[in-house]
This record gives sequence, structure tokens and C-alpha cells, in this order.
Amino acid sequence: MSHHHHEGHNHHHHGYNAEISKRFIIAIAINLIYVIAEFYLGYRYDSVGLLADAGHNLSDIFGMGISLVAFLMLKKSSSETFTYGFRKATVLASFLNSIFLIAAIGLIIYECIEKFAVGSVASGGAIMATAGIGIVINGMTVVLLSAGKERDINIKSAYLHMLADTLVSVGVVASGGLIMLTNMTWIDPVAGLIIAGIIIYSSWELFRDSFVLVLDGVPNGIDVKHLHNELLDIPNVDGVHHIHIWPLSTTENALTGHVVLRDVALIDDTKDKIKDFLKQHNIQHSTLEFESIHYCCAESC
Ligand SMILES: [Zn+2]
Ligand SMILES: [Zn+2]
Ligand SMILES: [Zn+2]
Ligand SMILES: [Zn+2]
Ligand SMILES: [Zn+2]
Repeated sequence: MSHHHHEGHNHHHHGYNAEISKRFIIAIAINLIYVIAEFYLGYRYDSVGLLADAGHNLSDIFGMGISLVAFLMLKKSSSETFTYGFRKATVLASFLNSIFLIAAIGLIIYECIEKFAVGSVASGGAIMATAGIGIVINGMTVVLLSAGKERDINIKSAYLHMLADTLVSVGVVASGGLIMLTNMTWIDPVAGLIIAGIIIYSSWELFRDSFVLVLDGVPNGIDVKHLHNELLDIPNVDGVHHIHIWPLSTTENALTGHVVLRDVALIDDTKDKIKDFLKQHNIQHSTLEFESIHYCCAESC
């Protein structure tokens, strides 16, 4: 494969950054306070639009928590039982988050259908005010997370997600305004269903990606063919086979492989070059078996 996409590779930085985790904790705290208020006001003013938005926001907080834990776990050392440390807990948590979202979608759709059937007494003014505060909270979160977005892929995706969510809040404010103007309360369950659709779209991706990671599939963004071809371009590398790639966490990946060397005497230099190359391709933990060109390998799967 001749196409190169190096600009898309994740260059991971291992330095622990107290400032970024502090900003994350503040963002999680203000969002949590808002979500509790949004759930309460959604029930109080009979708005499934607000409840749906609150369910979505709660899962976002969960996602931010996972990003923070992943960020902090990078410096946690391994134990005798967990030789890789606890980093993979982030994969399990992402998968559980997607399952939680699927359950929430079912609940939201059920509530919306019920509102169509029995009618809604949703208050347009309360919806506008509550979702309006949500826009402010989203804006604050975007500012808080923007500091770390160039350094960590997880933070960047949380930042972009929050930016998109601001549009959802604007939509909920608009639905409240329409209810106020027209008194047509069925607009509220329609808004709820639209939000459910947005959650289905974003959580399907989360479910698919985390399912691949749970089953030790090759993580999104790593192209095995591309890696294989570029490894062959490294001087002294005659062949590469029996490659396995799997995730260690939502941000770190591992590789094992066999490398055939033209000149075994240059093993140390070639090993350094391969390790550097793999780190640039978001593979932080690699274990290599070296072979001479005369060796007949049984494991060329
Ligand atoms: Zn490359
Ligand atoms: Zn969201
Ligand atoms: Zn194997
Ligand atoms: Zn190692
Ligand atoms: Zn081999």
C-alpha cells in the first residue's frame, strides 16, 4: 500500500499532567451537578426531551471519567497478577458505557411513545431555561478540555464531542421555544426521539470500537498492511511475519512479531529502529523475535 497517512497517527505522550487531570475533574463535577438538575427538572416539568438529553449527558460524564482514568493509569505500574497494570479497564469501561447507552435509548423511546399516547404537559419555558444552562455548561466544558486536546486522543475526542453536544442543547432550547409559542406539547417527545437518534448514531460507533478492543482486535487507526510494508523498508529487515496486534487500553497498543534480519550482527541497531517506528504508529509495547535468513520458521502464520 503506497498511501501514507502519517499525519493521522497518534503520537502518545506519557508525561503525567496534573493540570489536565485537574481540568477534567472540574469538567466532570460541573456536568454532574447539571445532569442531576436536568433529570430533576425533566421529571418536574414533564419533558422527555430534557430526560433524553440528561441520559445522554450522564453517559458523556461516564466517558469523561474513562478518559481521565486512562490518562492517570498511564503512570501506574504493573503488579504480579496484572503484569500490564490496569490499563485495559478503560476498554471494559468503554464497552459497558456503550451497553448503558443502548439501554438508555430503549428507555427514552419508550417514554416518548408513552407521551404521544397520553399527551404531555411539558413547559416550554422550563425546557428553554434548563437547556439554555446546558449550553453554558457545554461551553465551559469545551474551554476546560481544549487545553489537553492536542496531547491526548481521548481528550480530543471528548472535546469534539462536547462541541457537537452544544448543538443538541441549542435544538432542545428551540423545541422549548416552539412549545411556548404554539402550545403544541407533542414537540417535546419529537425532540426526545431526535436525541435518541443522535445517541444511536454515536453509541453504535462506541459499541463497535469497544467490542473490537474487548476481543483484542486491531484497534481503529492501525493498518496492519501499512505497518507490514513500512517495516520492510527499514534497513536490514528482510521479512516480517507472525504479527499480532492488540490493545492494552483505549490509548495504548501492543505488538508481537517475528523479524528476519539480513545481518544478525546489526540486531541492536535494527531493533531500536523498529521500536521507534512502532512508537510513531501508536504501538508502545512491542516484543520481537529475531531470525536469521537461514532459519526455517514454523510459525509463519
Ligand atoms: Zn506509517
Ligand atoms: Zn454527548
Ligand atoms: Zn500467533
Ligand atoms: Zn515491554
Ligand atoms: Zn518466525
